[in-house]
Amino acid sequence: MDTILVVNAGSSSLKFEVFAVAGALERLVKGQMEGIGTTPHLTIKSSTGERLENETYPADVVPDLPAAMRLVGELLRQRQAGRLIAVGHRVVHGGPNHSRPARIDAELLRELERYAPLAPLHQPNNLAPIRVLRERQPELAQIACFDTAFHRGHDPMTDHYAIPARFFDEGVRRYGFHGLSYEYVADRLAEISPGPGKGRVIVAHLGSGASMCALYQGVSVESTLGFTALDGLPMGTRCGQIDPGVLLYLLQQHVMSAGQLQDLLYKESGLKGLSGVSNDVRDLLASEEPGASLALDHFVHRIGLNAGALAAALGGLDAFVFTAGVGENSPVMRARIARKLEWLGAALDPARNEAGDLVISSGSSKIPILVVPTDEELMIARHTLALITA
Ligand code: ADP
Repeated sequence: MDTILVVNAGSSSLKFEVFAVAGALERLVKGQMEGIGTTPHLTIKSSTGERLENETYPADVVPDLPAAMRLVGELLRQRQAGRLIAVGHRVVHGGPNHSRPARIDAELLRELERYAPLAPLHQPNNLAPIRVLRERQPELAQIACFDTAFHRGHDPMTDHYAIPARFFDEGVRRYGFHGLSYEYVADRLAEISPGPGKGRVIVAHLGSGASMCALYQGVSVESTLGFTALDGLPMGTRCGQIDPGVLLYLLQQHVMSAGQLQDLLYKESGLKGLSGVSNDVRDLLASEEPGASLALDHFVHRIGLNAGALAAALGGLDAFVFTAGVGENSPVMRARIARKLEWLGAALDPARNEAGDLVISSGSSKIPILVVPTDEELMIARHTLALITA
């Protein structure tokens, strides 16, 4: 049996999945090492959710991502029958030119390292496991799947900021992210709802990171995310769109350092900062604190505003899709957001929404509202397989 390993490395966690290549791709196991460098904890589950590993390690055994990758690699080798034929990596930034996944070699790795300043919190972590695997198994095919790639078909005009053009040339442009999720959803839409799937669609990826994408004929034409994953909607702990004047104020009046500003905008803002309660929508829905309702009201308001902007970019709307943690699991939030779409002719069916059906709009709705669970890991596995068999 041939297998593909999918790796998604963050600052303190390493998520991984193994797929069997048996005609179609079949998920075998799914796992994560969390608390790297502090309280490393590894869980591995089978495709049916059965727990296969549940192990805590001393911090010095898993001090960093390379150590986590080595340990996970060793464990998977021991427990996994079959032959690993390739590894697909989620890489947040593919820069301005990569519009599809790419096989990793020394030259590509050097290029991707150059994008680290554009995504300092993610890119170095994404690249660390690639280096470890290149050292240990130089012959193993490794594929980089970029979160930015799906948005590279944008009209370049839309990807400019209105600052002197030399900054665009230097790389200061709107890249858009969550591309693997949007690509998966676009593919699913083409299968399950071919009519609207070919038209003008807004997909709302509402997880701890949140953004929206305008699709025309299955291709991204606009995204709420820009130069970094800070733009657009407020997120769990990230601020979303903000007047740059606020940053100048914080720099000048609060004499904040760049590092302090970065922590504030990435880790202390969004739903967490607004509510003072939590970054998790479940906690906010359950809370009686006024901050919790302010944060949720603001979140819904901004989603409504951005839906208007994306509908304008598309010149109308043929379908609206919810995906990711909040979008897939919260009927309450979907109902609140759907009310903001009524002016576009969208109407929810409460029973279908409660049941989490694929189509949750009512018979009288002018456009379908859908819930399409995303699967970024499967998308990476598909890309990886396609590239090594091309
Ligand atoms: P990530 O961006 O980390 O991949 P997910 O897409 O898994 O995140 O989304 C995680 C978020 O989804 C949680 O922080 C929580 O706010 C939200 N969420 C998950 N389940 C529910 C639920 N049943 N009701 C409301 N929110 C939920």
